[in-house]
Amino acid sequence: MEEYVQVAIEKGLSKIIFLEHMEEGIRHGYRIWLSDDDFDDYFAEGQRLQNVYQGKINIGLGVECGYNPDCSDLLRARLDKRSWDQVGISCHFLQLDGLADHLNIFSRKETNIHLARRFGADNLLDRYFTILIEAVQSLPGTMLCHLDGALRFLPETRLTESHYTLIDQLLRIVRERGMTVEINSSGFPIRREQFPNSRILGMAKAYNIPFVFGSDAHKPGEVGRYFDRVNALIP
Ligand SMILES: [Zn+2]
Repeated sequence: MEEYVQVAIEKGLSKIIFLEHMEEGIRHGYRIWLSDDDFDDYFAEGQRLQNVYQGKINIGLGVECGYNPDCSDLLRARLDKRSWDQVGISCHFLQLDGLADHLNIFSRKETNIHLARRFGADNLLDRYFTILIEAVQSLPGTMLCHLDGALRFLPETRLTESHYTLIDQLLRIVRERGMTVEINSSGFPIRREQFPNSRILGMAKAYNIPFVFGSDAHKPGEVGRYFDRVNALIP
């Protein structure tokens, strides 16, 4: 975490918010999210860094909560018991008929991409956006993460008009609940465009929804990546 903070300072950022992953009830071969005990350590280290770097950079401690419709109450209880500087809402995993594990729809792994194609991108995205609509209504979120990032490693994926209708419903709820939309710059190396795409950004702007820049950094060097390009999107 300290390395991320140091890179943020080197890049001239005045504020950084960590968004570690929370998931509940997801069947997946290995854990790619924090347990509750891990979150204790995360807060302890985050608070130490807030003291060390006071006056140099503002450090926030947030969470990216992946929604699972089967564990809505449990997720809400876990979110309610801590004080977060940002609660990102996302959905990374879908439960699909005939699969023992949940399918990670953000994965670059060949086996997951193959399964996603087998179930059909249109169908998976229908479910994904429908689950996000439930998620923003069920959880105390403050920001919607990487909105159209699902199936990002299936280059043939295209959003249909029916997906855009779901996205419109989603954005209306985001606006009603006073949430923000993340402009996630990890899209640039994958598809030469941020998440969400320009059409969705236009829809969100029309609803006067505020944006937050996110670099989806999974390594310190990725902090603030492509923020010059993201900045150019905001008049
Ligand atoms: Zn995510």
